[in-house]
Amino acid sequence: MIWLYLYPFVFISEDLDNFLFYNSLIFKRICFKKNTILVSIVKQLQDIDQLYSVKIHVKDLEDVHLLNFVETIQALGLGDIIEGNLEKPLIMPPVLNLQKSAERLKEHKVPIGENILSYLHEVSIYVSGTCLFNCPDCQDRYKQYLCCTKSADVLDPALLKNFLFSTYYTGAAITLSGGNIFQYKGLEDILSILEGIDAIHTLVSDWRNIPEDLRLLSRIRKESFRLKILVNELADVSSIIAIAQKIKNLQIKQCWEIGITSFPEYEDAEILGEQLSGLVDDVTIRPFYTGENIDFFEECIFIDQEELDNIELDKQGVFALQALNTNNFGKITILSDGNVYANVNEKPLGHIQDPIKEMLCEELEKGTSWRRTRYDLEPCSQCRYKLICPSPSNYELAIGKNNLCHINPL
Ligand code: SF4
Repeated sequence: MIWLYLYPFVFISEDLDNFLFYNSLIFKRICFKKNTILVSIVKQLQDIDQLYSVKIHVKDLEDVHLLNFVETIQALGLGDIIEGNLEKPLIMPPVLNLQKSAERLKEHKVPIGENILSYLHEVSIYVSGTCLFNCPDCQDRYKQYLCCTKSADVLDPALLKNFLFSTYYTGAAITLSGGNIFQYKGLEDILSILEGIDAIHTLVSDWRNIPEDLRLLSRIRKESFRLKILVNELADVSSIIAIAQKIKNLQIKQCWEIGITSFPEYEDAEILGEQLSGLVDDVTIRPFYTGENIDFFEECIFIDQEELDNIELDKQGVFALQALNTNNFGKITILSDGNVYANVNEKPLGHIQDPIKEMLCEELEKGTSWRRTRYDLEPCSQCRYKLICPSPSNYELAIGKNNLCHINPL
């Protein structure tokens, strides 16, 4: 008789036909095809009361599938065996301890609001919507990634100041976007408040809205801010480079984001990225789903087997995917009409004047953004890779499909 046991950093996931074993210490993974004997063994391993070990009779190892399973577990550092009539090994399987989850807090009547502000780490604020340009898809891009957008509203600077003071000590990083944020009347005052908040704040602007006169930017504390400059429409490369050079001369951190919708645009963006790379801190190429470029997305965004095989997540990373949407958690957006969102694709949580704690509690308890995981979405909930597959993003919402992957064709 032998004891087969798994190490406490090994996770098991499954779907209809396969088990996935994942070693969160050295990021190794392996799939086993299900059969009657493996199903019975793994079921016992998954039973938390069995403490991650299972008794196997030596005679059962004559089954070549079982023998191969045991040997693979050992070879990949997923677990080991103890031979002979020895005591059962006691190992704690990795189980998410929802000590602080909304359920647990409610169960013990701890007010959820108590620490809720500590979860807030990023607030994107659209201050005003004026802009002279007419980028295609201006009304849709910001719903897929943080991008400027036009609107007729202007956020009341007094309300914005009150909001900033109410979250001042959370240290949440603030991102200001618009329209053309440089035309926002209260901008200078707001920047001086942000300077006091201990975080790196971001000003988002299309490159054409960066003002000629950069005196305002040269007055801000350089360590507290960075510019995120968008190229929504690729044109006039020499003007783009000139702006990047001018900002570099002011020693302001700048990252650039080039929006693309197709492969030819991707190639142009790569060339521009290379030209910018010596001048700026970072260049990102950001695909945008237009509703008509699904082929492009299938090729460049959909996750494939190779990417899944290269994901490196530690134990906390796996737990985070089980409980939270790691793209959305801790983030809110305030649009220029004052509405507050956990995700701009969902219903607002409230208005900038409403108590922030209540809005965040509502999202943590019942919301559909901070806790939107693959465990609750079809068909991912039926897929073994939900264990390591990145949290769903806004692209899933734009495309109307939860699984942007080449694994599950449904
Ligand atoms: S997107 Fe969903 S179905 Fe596809 S691999 Fe990830 S978890 Fe599986």
